[in-house]
Amino acid sequence: MAKKQGHNHCSFCGRSDAEVRLIITGLDGCICDECAEQAHTIVKEATAGNKSSLNSAAPSNGLDWKNLPKPADIKTYLDQYVIGQDDAKRYLSVAVYNHYKRLCQEKTDDGVEIEKSNVIMVGPTGTGKTLMARTIAKLLKVPFTIVDATVFTEAGYVGEDVESILSRLLQVADFDLESTQRGIVFIDEIDKIARKADNPSITRDVSGEGVQQGLLKLLEGTIVNVPPKGGRKHPDQDYIHVDTRNILFICGGAFDGIERKIAQRLNTHVVGYNSIQNVARIDRNDLMKYIVPQDLKSFGLIPEIIGRLPVLTYLNQLDRKALRAILTEPKNSLIRQQQKLFAMDGIELTFAEDALEYIVDKAVEYKLGARGLRSIVEAIMMTPQFELPSSGEKHFTVTLDYAKHQLERSNLAVAERGI
Ligand code: ADP
Repeated sequence: MAKKQGHNHCSFCGRSDAEVRLIITGLDGCICDECAEQAHTIVKEATAGNKSSLNSAAPSNGLDWKNLPKPADIKTYLDQYVIGQDDAKRYLSVAVYNHYKRLCQEKTDDGVEIEKSNVIMVGPTGTGKTLMARTIAKLLKVPFTIVDATVFTEAGYVGEDVESILSRLLQVADFDLESTQRGIVFIDEIDKIARKADNPSITRDVSGEGVQQGLLKLLEGTIVNVPPKGGRKHPDQDYIHVDTRNILFICGGAFDGIERKIAQRLNTHVVGYNSIQNVARIDRNDLMKYIVPQDLKSFGLIPEIIGRLPVLTYLNQLDRKALRAILTEPKNSLIRQQQKLFAMDGIELTFAEDALEYIVDKAVEYKLGARGLRSIVEAIMMTPQFELPSSGEKHFTVTLDYAKHQLERSNLAVAERGI
């Protein structure tokens, strides 16, 4: 293809190169700039409807799942954002991969039907459950929303809330029904809807069991009529029929005290001929890794719910080493975020190693875990964030003394001292 100025006429509108800004010549014809633009718009409109979405990796019609990242690729991606939690990462990577394989499988007709692989992650709060689900959604470029299971108990009437989850997902997907129907919903605090009788830590009045029943259909796959703009149903509103069959549900919960249930089960099981050997093999400091669906049942989840969350995995409490890594290693770590903020003002920000260690010590001391790291970093960086942009300085180092001084005069330390 070449563009030239001469006696060419656009093969589409017939105008000569004297009448248009630009003419592009092909083998047997020419096209002017305006017609080229028009053609581009037509192509865009024509392909918008049947774009093989998931922004290219979508398991929509015609998806080639071979283009999807493999489980090992998914884990490598997660490693960039989430520290540790290797087991959970592997489980989640496989579950997500299988989920999308399953969507492709539906189109074949060999009689084997891969079942849905909803996931349940058990682990203390602030250990990366939400972060992991969010990161997966980012990788797959699917709509993602987080809901809190406790809203079901607060509202009492489950139906209404099921719609609100999906209406949120629709909003995130810009009301694209097709992509909504293969989105990911993260249901947080699933442990809070455990049956009361089996779980003394639950103080709510609303029966967890009724709420769990309400969730069943949603997890398994049902058509939910969602009012287009959310909110309450109205007789003459046109509903959007959202099919949840291919929506991946990832549930998370702290399940406080579940280790006791695991220990109880292990103790009952180890009575017998091999008891001494088995007891020796059990790592008492890390009971979570022995979790099985039966423990969720002892905790108060009904078997039907457990059956619809076939992939069960756990997350470990973050130790000091993990907290230190979280500060600097993830691609969007807190320190990198701060450095980026300052770089926008032309300031190079560095942290002394002992200042970083101090931040971790304080997070451990305040028992704030990974969430606390952020509050501490924000408290320390408040003054420099206020002063440095107008100071003309080009470099700034947060030393141990500086970090201590800033934190001690912050509200965070005051609150911690109980003043
Ligand atoms: P939860 O397990 O309660 O869902 P989150 O995933 O919301 O916890 O974690 C809260 C914040 O703590 C995250 O936004 C992230 O900044 C940090 N965080 C927690 N766990 C990790 C981890 N394993 N790796 C990196 N950051 C983490």
